[in-house]
Amino acid sequence: MDSRLEDILKWFKDSRGNITVLTGAGISAESGIPTFRGKDGYWTVGSKEYHPQEMATFRMFKLRPYDVWQWYLYRKTVCARAKPNSGHFALVELENIFMERFCLITQNVDGLHLRAGNTTERTYQIHGNINFMRCSRECSDEIFPVPPEIPPQDKTSRISEEEKRLLVCPHCGALSRPHVLWFDECYNEKYFRFDSSIRKAKETDLLLVVGTSGATNLPMQVGSLVVRKGGAIIDINPEINPFSGMAERVKNGYHYQGSSGEILPEIVDFLKA
Ligand SMILES: [Zn+2]
Repeated sequence: MDSRLEDILKWFKDSRGNITVLTGAGISAESGIPTFRGKDGYWTVGSKEYHPQEMATFRMFKLRPYDVWQWYLYRKTVCARAKPNSGHFALVELENIFMERFCLITQNVDGLHLRAGNTTERTYQIHGNINFMRCSRECSDEIFPVPPEIPPQDKTSRISEEEKRLLVCPHCGALSRPHVLWFDECYNEKYFRFDSSIRKAKETDLLLVVGTSGATNLPMQVGSLVVRKGGAIIDINPEINPFSGMAERVKNGYHYQGSSGEILPEIVDFLKA
């Protein structure tokens, strides 16, 4: 491990402060899950090809609810077949070491952090979770698992009438929707822990950014708040990105340009030694 990275981790250990981990598509890519923002996310309906930025919208859901559901059921199948990797498991260990001093903010909707063993209490899924659904009319704030009776779907599957009957709100019978944040929707506390994320960011002494390029606004706000507080930032990403820029600007900053599955277990070993 690089001595600069060791120095930051040593400083953090002595500070007895709070650690926040911010994860994005990069950590799941190491489990084989595509980002769905690029060509892997294109979706064909009839003769037309849609981009993820069109599919992942409430607007499209209102126009073609079952096409949007079909896309999400396919993606859910891809996620279900993937397995958490050594990076995910390292973050479970990190939670077990630091407990209430630990917080995980994830942009990933695949649920892999929870499957690895992180707790829902300390895992803020700021873009939702593809394994859940909620009422499209918001008759309550409740979220429900996508019915397990719906079988795995491939790219050419089409939702059957029986499956349509399962994709409803258990309370009022209206159509359900995937429990994810769409491009034309806003963050909030009740579904996405927006306020909690901001509060945690303000209390963060060490921010570990893993595999995110900062394309959405809440992660950037979290980074900026940690910079303002004078916290340390370790950015783990094979590419240069806005967080590596932030890591350069703070006193205790480091950009690890490589795989999270390799460096996270090393970081955890160092912190628990
Ligand atoms: Zn309802």
